[in-house]
Amino acid sequence: MLQSRFLRIPLSPTTLYPPKPTTLLPLLSLARKPRSRMSSYATSSESPKLLFRQLFEKESCTYTYLLADVSHPEKPALLVDPVDKTVDRDLSLIKDLGLKLIYAINTHVHADHVTGTGLIKTKSPGVKSIISKASNAKADLFVEAGDKICFGDLFLEVRATPGHTLGCVTYVTGDGPNQARPRMAFTGDALLIRGCGRTDFQDGSSEQLYKSVHSQARTRKSA
Ligand SMILES: [Zn+2]
Repeated sequence: MLQSRFLRIPLSPTTLYPPKPTTLLPLLSLARKPRSRMSSYATSSESPKLLFRQLFEKESCTYTYLLADVSHPEKPALLVDPVDKTVDRDLSLIKDLGLKLIYAINTHVHADHVTGTGLIKTKSPGVKSIISKASNAKADLFVEAGDKICFGDLFLEVRATPGHTLGCVTYVTGDGPNQARPRMAFTGDALLIRGCGRTDFQDGSSEQLYKSVHSQARTRKSA
């Protein structure tokens, strides 16, 4: 079990790729135990762009998410919360789908499983790892609230959602005319199905987690 939370943050700061316009729409929360098995999403444009896969690691009961812009010529992809034990499976799937993995992203430092980002980087040297600056963990790139992580013409916005750990963030799919609908929020352990992550270690705070969930994870606004 893990913990975390959500905060309302104005978009603007750092972008890891050119940012796209944002808008406001209902969010589909995709916590550690997601509510559905939707595998692809349509955008508001003529053709679907976002490829989406939900992957599961049974020992730690962890969901990893694969997202890619399949309309882009290079089909850039990213993984959210990869687990070391399932790296080969994930990379094999990415290869089979003809995607180019560019980012391996973590919502927070995981106490209940080992992240797969390090292993991914050894097997795919071009991949950059990403985690929040507040996590004090190692990574190639550090993000904070309001940052955007772009892959192709799609992007994720970063929301600070402390409470489970001090450095927890939630990644929310972008808002805008060419972004996927419905929007999705990758909450890590801040928000689970019928529950939240624990708050009794790693600088957790139940009060902070409550505020994060209600101001960020469940908000209908993008920021
Ligand atoms: Zn956790």
